[in-house]
Amino acid sequence: MAKVNTVLGPVSADELGVTLMHEHLVVSYLGWECDALAPPYDREAAAKACVETLKEAKGYGLKTLVDATATDMGRDIELQKVVSERLGINIICATGFYTEKYGKAGYFKFRSQAYDITAEVCQTMVKEITHGIGNTGVKAGVIKVGTGHARISSYEEKMLKAAARAQKETGVPIITHTEAGTMGPEQADLLISEGADPKRIVIGHMCGNADLKYHLSVLEKGVNIAFDRLGIDILFPDKLRKACLIGLIGIGYADRIMLSQDRWAYWLGRPFEFPDAAKPLMANWSYVHVFNNIIPVLKEAGVSEDKINRLMVENPRRLFGGE
Ligand SMILES: [Zn+2]
Repeated sequence: MAKVNTVLGPVSADELGVTLMHEHLVVSYLGWECDALAPPYDREAAAKACVETLKEAKGYGLKTLVDATATDMGRDIELQKVVSERLGINIICATGFYTEKYGKAGYFKFRSQAYDITAEVCQTMVKEITHGIGNTGVKAGVIKVGTGHARISSYEEKMLKAAARAQKETGVPIITHTEAGTMGPEQADLLISEGADPKRIVIGHMCGNADLKYHLSVLEKGVNIAFDRLGIDILFPDKLRKACLIGLIGIGYADRIMLSQDRWAYWLGRPFEFPDAAKPLMANWSYVHVFNNIIPVLKEAGVSEDKINRLMVENPRRLFGGE
C-alpha cells in the first residue's frame, strides 16, 4: 500500500479514514500585508481557532483533512503540524498555485519572459513532494492548481501542465479550483494530455454548476469530481448542489465524487465579516455541514451507508493510495 505524505509524516492510505477533500486552515489573499490596519499574523491564535472550529468535525469521525491552501495563499506548514498534533487528525498539505487573479502570479510571470516556467514550476512541485517544503521536513501530499472564470489564462495553463508532469513523476494526486462551475472539462483535458493519471485528478468546485451535462462531460474523462463548496449558498444554492449530488449518485457515480466545504478557520488581515444580507446565505458554511446536513439528506434520498462510505472514505483512500 502506497504511503501518503501528511504533515506529521507518511501514513498508509488505509489509515486516512473519513476525509474532507478540500478545506483550509489559514487563508490569506495577495496584498493583505499591505493593509496598514491588518494585525500581524499570530500563529498561536490561528492554531486555537483551527482546533476550536475543527473539534466538532472530529466528533463526527473526521480523520483526515486535505488543506487545499496553495503555496501562494498563506499556507503555513508549522501551523498545520500544530493543529494536526493537537487535534489528532491527519492533515495533507498542498504544493501548487492558485489562480492568476487571486494567487501570486507576478514572480513566475516575470520569469516566463526568459525561462520555461512550466519546467521551473514542475521542479518546485516535485521538490516540495519529494524533498520537503522549506526546512520544515514536511512533504506535500497533494498538488493544487486553479483556473479563473470561463477561461484558462496562459499562466494558469503552464501551472496545470506543470502539475500534470509533477503528478506523473511523483504519483501524488491533483486537486483543482474551478471558478463558478466553468472550465472543468478543459482542465481535465489539459491535465490528461500532459500525462496526468485521470484516476488521480479531482476537478474541484464542481458544485458551482447545476448543469448535469457539465458534470457528465467531466466525469466522462475518467477523473474524480468534488462537491467541495457545500454550504456556501452565497455562491450557488445548496438545494441545487444536493439535487445534482443525489442524481449523480443515483446513476452510478458514487465511486467518483468527494465532499467538502472549502471552509477556513483563520483569515489574515482585518477582521472579515459577511454583510448582514449575506449572513443567511453563509449560515451553513462550517466544517460539519457535510456531516450535519448533507449526509442526512443523502440517506433520506435512499443513498446507502456503503455509498456514503465511498464518498467519505473509499474514494479518498483510492485517490491517495494510487489504486
Ligand atoms: Zn479552497
